[in-house]
Amino acid sequence: MKKFFSILCTLLFLANFMLAGNADAKIINNLDSTKQKYDYLIVGSGLSGAVFANEAAKKGKRCLVIDKRSHIAGNVYTENIEGINVHKYGAHIFHTSNKKVWDYINQFAEFNNFVNSPIAVYKKELYNLPFNMNTFSKMWNIKTPGEAKRIIEAQVKKSKITSPKNLEEQAISLVGRDIYQKLIKGYTEKQWGKDCKDLPAFIIRRLPVRFTYNNNYFNDKYQGIPVGGYTPIIEKMLESSDVLLNTDYFDFIKKHPDVAEKIVYTGEIDRYYNYQYGKLGYRSLRFETEILDMENYQGNAVVNYTERSVPYTRIIEHKHFEFGNQPKTVVTKEYPAKYNGNNEPYYPINNEENMILYQKYKALADKETDVIFCGRLGEYKYFDMDKVIESTLSLTEKII
Ligand code: FAD
Ligand code: UDP
Repeated sequence: MKKFFSILCTLLFLANFMLAGNADAKIINNLDSTKQKYDYLIVGSGLSGAVFANEAAKKGKRCLVIDKRSHIAGNVYTENIEGINVHKYGAHIFHTSNKKVWDYINQFAEFNNFVNSPIAVYKKELYNLPFNMNTFSKMWNIKTPGEAKRIIEAQVKKSKITSPKNLEEQAISLVGRDIYQKLIKGYTEKQWGKDCKDLPAFIIRRLPVRFTYNNNYFNDKYQGIPVGGYTPIIEKMLESSDVLLNTDYFDFIKKHPDVAEKIVYTGEIDRYYNYQYGKLGYRSLRFETEILDMENYQGNAVVNYTERSVPYTRIIEHKHFEFGNQPKTVVTKEYPAKYNGNNEPYYPINNEENMILYQKYKALADKETDVIFCGRLGEYKYFDMDKVIESTLSLTEKII
């Protein structure tokens, strides 16, 4: 029996190790009860948990990182398929204007000079994104910024919107009704499963609007893709921590209530509090990935499908993030999905109703002395990677 158990443990250990494709982070298969208590139990091996672990380890703290998934890295996880680094949870382009964050992430990887310039497909028409002179010129057959501005102004005036109160009004005020109808309404309503009138305006302000012929999706000073993918970055961040995979916090903590002095929780805050005030809203996704026996499928890393009747929002061709010329290609269709409690809560839906509810959970979190909430789900914020790093670094500076 003892022998069987030891073989089982070894197999589990190897399976964990292989699933994570992991060379650096110390993946353990069970806890060594003779070891001292950890300083931190970090729930979630995504970017926020990994940054926290790295900073804590630098200050001599002992961390145990657990994740319910079978691999490290959360949503930035990349996996090598056919020699291509596949972004398993959707396209991840690193961009920031914060030099401190850029220098921080560059300690862990070399970044290439990829610039995200997605294409939007509406029926048989193709447009450049973000909304810029290329988009306006194609939409209205015009050439100059002056012509584009006049058309947008006329459309905004006709809509009688003075202070935009929701995503629809915000979009029309920024780019006019034609672009809203063709490139925003269908995409947004399928992405969020809600009418644009019921969504917060800030979501559309994520995208630049420019009166120059510049297809860069971001306004940030620094941008790129880590050569070799994101998983090695997280491996390096976790190299001084113990990591347990396939481990859900709520089961684990019942068995090991005294495992650490403090808990850093990067999962959903409402779940932590057993939904006592009700459930926060999230949006999920479903990914369909295929290997295609061709060199180049769509000629661009990201192509958006903005019509409502196309069920997916975008197709990602992963090799283009790293300018790959492998003989095959890997593409992923991204389908928006209702969050049902069993799939992943990829996006917090930060509308007014959810934000009121979140404030109640935050009030509980603020009273905690030994539990710290961070990351996209812990802070219930539509954070990009740079903001996750910024927020987690400022947290660690304050508390460790
Ligand atoms: P996560 O990566 O979600 O990590 C949380 C981890 O906690 C997960 O691994 C989860 O399994 C684990 N966990 C949760 N609950 C428990 C529990 N109870 N027990 C154990 N483990 C638990 N940002 C950009 O900057 N650029 C982009 O191009 C970009 N594209 C994106 C595309 C998509 C489709 C999505 C969804 C996000 C994108 N982001 C992008 C945002 C980026 O993914 C996040 O900012 C970042 O991954 C958040 O890291 P995190 O650690 O907070 O969360
Ligand atoms: N959006 C759109 N059309 C597009 C691309 C984006 O209307 O072709 C809107 C949509 O509402 C989306 C938001 O802009 O949710 C933010 O887009 P972003 O690419 O930043 O979304 P993410 O990568 O976070 O899913």
